[in-house]
Amino acid sequence: MVNLIPENEEERMTALREYSILDTKAEQVYDDITMLASWVCSAPIALISLVDSDRQWFKSRVGLAASQMPREYGFCAHAILHPDEVMIVPDTLSDPRFASNPHVTGEPNIRFYAGAPLVTSSGASLGTVCVIDHVPRTLEDEQINALRALSRQVVAQMELRRTIAEQEQQAFALSAYQRQLEDYQRLIEKANAELEIQSLTDVLTGLMNRRAFNTKLEEESHQTVRHKYALSLLMIDIDNFKSYNDSYGHPAGDEALKLVAEVLRKKARKCDYVARYGGEEFAIILPHTGIEGSIIIAERLRQAIEKCKPAHRSLTISIGVETAISGVSNIPGLISKADEALYHAKAAGRNQIAHAQKQS
Ligand code: GH3
Ligand code: MG
Ligand code: MG
Repeated sequence: MVNLIPENEEERMTALREYSILDTKAEQVYDDITMLASWVCSAPIALISLVDSDRQWFKSRVGLAASQMPREYGFCAHAILHPDEVMIVPDTLSDPRFASNPHVTGEPNIRFYAGAPLVTSSGASLGTVCVIDHVPRTLEDEQINALRALSRQVVAQMELRRTIAEQEQQAFALSAYQRQLEDYQRLIEKANAELEIQSLTDVLTGLMNRRAFNTKLEEESHQTVRHKYALSLLMIDIDNFKSYNDSYGHPAGDEALKLVAEVLRKKARKCDYVARYGGEEFAIILPHTGIEGSIIIAERLRQAIEKCKPAHRSLTISIGVETAISGVSNIPGLISKADEALYHAKAAGRNQIAHAQKQS
């Protein structure tokens, strides 16, 4: 009994699996080759046979109904043992290896076999291109050479398919990688946007912080100059806040600051920009607002704070107002005028508003 397992069986099977060809559908390109093999060798049966661990599976077949047969009865299992040779069995009945083979003694009555091994570039012998006849015979040298050439064509085709599949897989992996990069990009953009918001927000009150206020005042001022409209600025300071802190503690002071911020935000108009300017000071930008309008709003805010109820005692605010009637051409000037007016409001007794242009 001939040992049908080649020495390199493990590598051979690994190579065969890498081509992912077993049990695939029929394909024209392989069927063309068996058709040519059959015609060139004038044989009724031609096969592209791949030797799997326990069977021979036919990728393409001419003149044979079965799609596979057990490896132990297969002729190709013998042929792959000698990868450099075309195995020719002129008469199976007079060959002790095959005389009692059920495929010889019964269907499909193999009397003649010639198989050219399919040898890959790495030397693995995967199967054969073979031709079979029902009568004893042999092949001309040209036919043997043609069978060899066709076996090389099968291997070339298989390697081409494998390369294409690998490239498709790489392209898929690449696009998955690209998608992942895009996801990361979006996450970074989102994180940056959140950081940007954080860097512009006062942590205690949630209002714009001084940095955001400065930027916003600059933007709005440009607009007022360009379109020549009025803008007013309110500088607000809580009266006697130190004593509130001293009496009730810093955390209570924080709660009161949050409440004042909330009231200012609610009572200002949607188009106004309310900021925590520092400590217990707030600033509000009133776009499109002249002197009279700014006084009305400032007064509304003053009253609202007077009425709101911090945990321990009521609070009041003083407000300094300045208006740039036809646009803000000097931002520091606007701020210092509003500050001066605030100073006047304090000096005049607190809990009141003072407009820089209404001072006597
Ligand atoms: P005036 O009417 O002149 O404004 O008197 P004032 O007591 O409000 O002014 P002063 O500048 O003397 O005190 C401001 C106080 O505000 C002092 C400080 O402890 C308090 N303050 C500033 N920032 C915070 C804060 O974030 N939390 C708390 N709880 N208190 C603050
Ligand atoms: Mg102050
Ligand atoms: Mg104060």
